[in-house]
Amino acid sequence: MTETFEFDREAIKTLMEKAAFSLTYEPVQIQLREPKNKSFAGQVFRAKNGLLTIAIKPDLEMEVFYKVFLHEIGHISLGHCNDLLPIDLPTETSLTYLAYGPSLTPTQAERKEHREKPEESGADDFANSIDGVAKEYARLWFQSEDIEARLRALSRITISKGE
Ligand SMILES: [Zn+2]
Repeated sequence: MTETFEFDREAIKTLMEKAAFSLTYEPVQIQLREPKNKSFAGQVFRAKNGLLTIAIKPDLEMEVFYKVFLHEIGHISLGHCNDLLPIDLPTETSLTYLAYGPSLTPTQAERKEHREKPEESGADDFANSIDGVAKEYARLWFQSEDIEARLRALSRITISKGE
């Protein structure tokens, strides 16, 4: 792979866990792991220990990695995950929420079908609007819009649940 994909995932993962807590008011664990369904870049499920868990495909470029994270946070923040039952790891039939990565190539039909679900457009809208806030505060506080600055900003701000 190219250098575009070189970034410190473990450091970003730690920042994501802090930002997730600030955004959802609950501990969320991040796992760097392929979602069960290979067409997807991210997946949120409730782990056996009770924690909401976001699995993100590890080999995404950084901006996509971050956007997948925000999409899954959207599902949590909008209450889509409230009734998820604890599972060891997702299987094909587990109830979970997923995100397509823009760098992946689901068919147009698959992508359209997924996007037309209200939960999915809701999670996308949440991701876009939160990213706008993240950029604004990252510029203000850190004079930067890079992903690390955006995550640091998100871990410091309080957002009303469901906004
Ligand atoms: Zn989704």
